[in-house]
Amino acid sequence: MLKIDTDVKYVKGVGPRVSKILSRINIKTVEDLLFHIPVRYVDRTNIKKIKDITIGEQTTLVGTILDRSLRRTVRGKIVGEFLFSDGTGNIKLLFFNQPYLKNVLKKGTHLIIFGKIDFFKSYQIIQPEFDVIDKQEGSSKENFGGIIPVYPLTEGISQKYLRKIIRNAIDNTDLSSYNILDNKILHDCSVIQLKDALLRVHTPNSVDEGIGARKTIAFYEFLFIQTYLERRKFKTKAEGGVYIKKSDFTEKFITKLPFKLTGAQKRVTEEILEDMQTGKRMARLLQGDVGSGKTIVALISALNVIKSGYQVAFMAPTEILANQHYRKIVKYLQNSDINVELLTGGLKTSEKKTIKENLTSGKTDIVVGTHALIEDDVVFRSLGLAIIDEQHRFGVEQRSKLLNKGNNTHLLVMTATPIPRSLAMTLYGDLDISVIDEMPPGRKEIVTRWIKDDKRFELYDFIKKRINEMGDQVYVIYPLVEESEKLDLKSATLMFEEIKKYFSDIKVGLIHGRINSGEKEEVMKRFAKGEIKILVGTTVIEVGIDVPNATIMVIEHPERFGLSQLHQLRGRIGRGDKKSFCILITDRFVSDVAVKRLKIMEQTKNGFKIAEEDLKLRGPGNIYGTRQHGMPDFKVANIIEDADMLMKARECAKKIIDYDRDLKYNKLLDRFEGIDRYYRIG
Ligand code: ADP
Ligand code: MG
Repeated sequence: MLKIDTDVKYVKGVGPRVSKILSRINIKTVEDLLFHIPVRYVDRTNIKKIKDITIGEQTTLVGTILDRSLRRTVRGKIVGEFLFSDGTGNIKLLFFNQPYLKNVLKKGTHLIIFGKIDFFKSYQIIQPEFDVIDKQEGSSKENFGGIIPVYPLTEGISQKYLRKIIRNAIDNTDLSSYNILDNKILHDCSVIQLKDALLRVHTPNSVDEGIGARKTIAFYEFLFIQTYLERRKFKTKAEGGVYIKKSDFTEKFITKLPFKLTGAQKRVTEEILEDMQTGKRMARLLQGDVGSGKTIVALISALNVIKSGYQVAFMAPTEILANQHYRKIVKYLQNSDINVELLTGGLKTSEKKTIKENLTSGKTDIVVGTHALIEDDVVFRSLGLAIIDEQHRFGVEQRSKLLNKGNNTHLLVMTATPIPRSLAMTLYGDLDISVIDEMPPGRKEIVTRWIKDDKRFELYDFIKKRINEMGDQVYVIYPLVEESEKLDLKSATLMFEEIKKYFSDIKVGLIHGRINSGEKEEVMKRFAKGEIKILVGTTVIEVGIDVPNATIMVIEHPERFGLSQLHQLRGRIGRGDKKSFCILITDRFVSDVAVKRLKIMEQTKNGFKIAEEDLKLRGPGNIYGTRQHGMPDFKVANIIEDADMLMKARECAKKIIDYDRDLKYNKLLDRFEGIDRYYRIG
């Protein structure tokens, strides 16, 4: 008997040569092979004869290619015509612009085809789906009953062969570890065992059964994670949290603010306070679009904590951002007795030493900082609340490290990257979620326009005019992706040179990740002061920096960014009282998907909608523009299409944790324990 984690080469019929081929599609173990599930099924109990077909019906046919020809239409399209027969009649198959099919659909090739019957001079099917099969396969019904699974293939492996080795794997592997749930849960969640779902998905009795089995497998993939998150949430709560009382100081502070809190800010502030009064540890995600005013909510929560006698740590991903938070907080708290400090890597050792001493003695109430906060020698007297801004930029360990500097410390993580509900549940199922879904009043409009490169100089003239006549400032943003970092830096630098030349009488600055932090800071400062008018940079300016006078943002190669990231970038402008412009500039040719996405950017202002659209168009891995934020890689499940299963898994996970908290009866569910590595946070 094989085990599910056995190397796939030991499956009967595989061997070292084929296992190499399989590894190309990530099949390395028996389990990988079992989770290689059909893309669709052919219902062979329902194959028509050509003599019986009628126009307009969707039909499955089995037969042979008799003849083929390629021709070109007047418009230059290549049309492939294939004559297909099953012995009872002939039908024409038409394919457009796929000349390579000539090598696939040779005379004598046996096929299963699916498509809609058409008639033009004779019966035909335009662009049918097809699978090449073996001759005897077309006539026999052994092995898989009448329903034939069709698998995703890779070069060098045929359908028939895959079916055979999957069959061998099923027959010769101990599948008992796929009996995951006990009877009570199977019943309560009305679901079958993963083992049965796997059997059915490969050898279904009907097409519906196969499709249902796939759904069930997706359910289990979600369930592993949801159970893990539920348990984690439970543990967090069990730890207990320090008690925070509402303070008069905070009340007064709020009334003295230069603006009134929005309804959403008030509600969320209350949610956070209540959560810190339950005696349990808070673990909360604060979501809010760029500019929705998360910082002040975090600060108000911090004040309650400080006035209850504890310290607060406020961690941001970059020095620039930490600096900005620090300066703002100092300004808010001037004339109060609250001590604020800034701790970043850039400080002198002696300065750091003093700050650390003040943290240990308790003299400092709130410390703002970067990763420097989690260094080992940072010791708090009594850390009551850890706030993490732009949390997706930090890893799990970093978050834990900060939390571990206190006892029963509350956690508030913040993100401006709106996360669609389904994704939020997957990524942050262990956190409670607060959403600021309302913008402060009086924000000026940001007009977003997509233009093509041939309009570049018109754009430059417009920019020149705004700078000279209205004193505006401008960001020019370049994408920077790890895979082509060097090239990207080069193009950003080239762009900088080009712009300097074109705007010869205007000060232009350059900023990117390779510039040392002192220099970066210097350029940013000069931009903030208005000395530098045009700032060319990579996404290092994505987070943070508030320059109200910057009203124009030009984004080069916007198609290379995630929509949410574009939205985040765009949030850097429109911060003052002038109308702002975000110009997305592409080459002349862009893909259809890119066009759709650019249109969404032009038309949509709501970050959550944008994220939903992006999720639909590009899938979860791209929400942040990179994969590294740690979406779990599901083998089968798809967060969008299987959203129903995600909900079901979540409900089921709750039932499980209710009655079997330690997974005594459902042991195998913890096979995904240690899933931490999937998550930047969790
Ligand atoms: P983000 O949610 O992106 O972190 P910030 O907290 O930086 O947003 O707030 C953006 C700007 O809006 C800041 O300058 C802040 O002072 C201001 N602001 C926050 N809340 C309000 C409000 N209720 N009314 C007016 N301005 C506000
Ligand atoms: Mg912010």
